[in-house]
Amino acid sequence: MSKHLVLVGGGHAHLTAIKNLSVFTRAGHNVTLISASPFHYYSGMGPGMLSGTYHPSQVRFHVRKMAEDRGASFVEDKVVKIDPVRHVLFLQSGSAVIYDVVSFNTGSEVPVASIADAEQDNIVPVKPVVNLLKARQTILESIRKGETWKYAVIGGGPAGLEICANLWRLLYANRGKGTIKLIAGEKLMPGAPEKVRRLALSSLAGRGVEIIEGSFVKSIKQNGVALTDGRTLEFDLAFAAIGIRPARLFAESGLPTGADGGLLVNAHLRSVAHNDIFGGGDCVSLQGKPLAKVGVYAVRENPILFHNLQAALDGGEMMTFKPQPHYLLIFNMGNGRGIFWKKDWVWDGRLAFVLKDYIDNRFMRMFQVSGEREDKPEVTE
Ligand SMILES: Cc1cc2nc3c(=O)[nH]c(=O)nc-3n(C[C@H](O)[C@H](O)[C@H](O)COP(=O)(O)OP(=O)(O)OC[C@H]3O[C@@H](n4cnc5c(N)ncnc54)[C@H](O)[C@@H]3O)c2cc1C
Repeated sequence: MSKHLVLVGGGHAHLTAIKNLSVFTRAGHNVTLISASPFHYYSGMGPGMLSGTYHPSQVRFHVRKMAEDRGASFVEDKVVKIDPVRHVLFLQSGSAVIYDVVSFNTGSEVPVASIADAEQDNIVPVKPVVNLLKARQTILESIRKGETWKYAVIGGGPAGLEICANLWRLLYANRGKGTIKLIAGEKLMPGAPEKVRRLALSSLAGRGVEIIEGSFVKSIKQNGVALTDGRTLEFDLAFAAIGIRPARLFAESGLPTGADGGLLVNAHLRSVAHNDIFGGGDCVSLQGKPLAKVGVYAVRENPILFHNLQAALDGGEMMTFKPQPHYLLIFNMGNGRGIFWKKDWVWDGRLAFVLKDYIDNRFMRMFQVSGEREDKPEVTE
């Protein structure tokens, strides 16, 4: 019997399902992909896009084309509410979509409202990743005008580190003038081994970045960042990398959620309350084992989601997602070097960046099946 499969969010965890959509359509099902943008940007290469190491065409998937080429419908919109009883998704545009089976991969957002009074053009949340491309264009424009800007990067985690390092590269490569301050909270890279921290600190400090530890951002006003130590730092452009959390969509729709507000799923990546709702990536919380919000897990969930969506539509055994206990992170330090970290194994150098570049490009080529690399202009959709 023909059913309607709806994929919400063309993110990292849906890529296998989107690439293989014809498996669903050949079985007689209708498929709709609803996503906020026709493009999906790979976060692992986002900081490199900010610096110019990568052209946007190397960093994004044309999810609209991927879906339409495979017989699915694409709706550029956002799901704002779910009615799990009547199987209805309500969209920002005011329309509604009825599903038989739905899968969410809507990611996470930076809770900027917790520190900023209002939305401001000169505060750049590091997600969605396309914000980094828009920031690059703004910064290049200011360099062209000969302006000297004060930059603030707020957040001392992996995203803050990579943004800071690649912002430096953007200025250096384009002879831009300005200062960069990284406001790290308690300390830079608090969850990492001491060696990662030491390498990161010396790399940034050696390039003139001022790292402020032991102080948090209390609030951001139009041109000043108020710190908990009483200081106010002026800025022209600030990047907000203060952590990420799933949107309120699931809690507001009355679905069971984890402590972080993510859709609570079991090891089949299926809602613990509704058999026809699935999800992967940053927007879900795995029951009994909440995972770090890293792309590594979203990527590993791909084959499980693809398989289990077929099983939900046509019958069959569900596959179980077994998260790996340790994963590799390599930080792009913007100077052609990387910091490699897996468990207690930490080292840095050019080889680390070469390895990251190889792994990231291999991943991109696996899913860039819609002529993405032929796009040349820096489109910011
Ligand atoms: C600067 C930076 C660098 C990072 N580097 C790494 C790294 O090197 N390695 C690593 O493992 N992790 C990294 N991360 C973490 C990584 O970004 C996330 O874990 C990853 O993006 C999660 O993928 P996702 O598909 O769940 O979500 P996302 O990548 O956020 O994708 C969600 C998709 O859903 C769409 N969407 C959102 N809301 C809706 C809605 N309501 N309706 C419809 N569509 C919607 C969005 O448009 C988007 O296409 C980095 C994060 C940042 C910010």
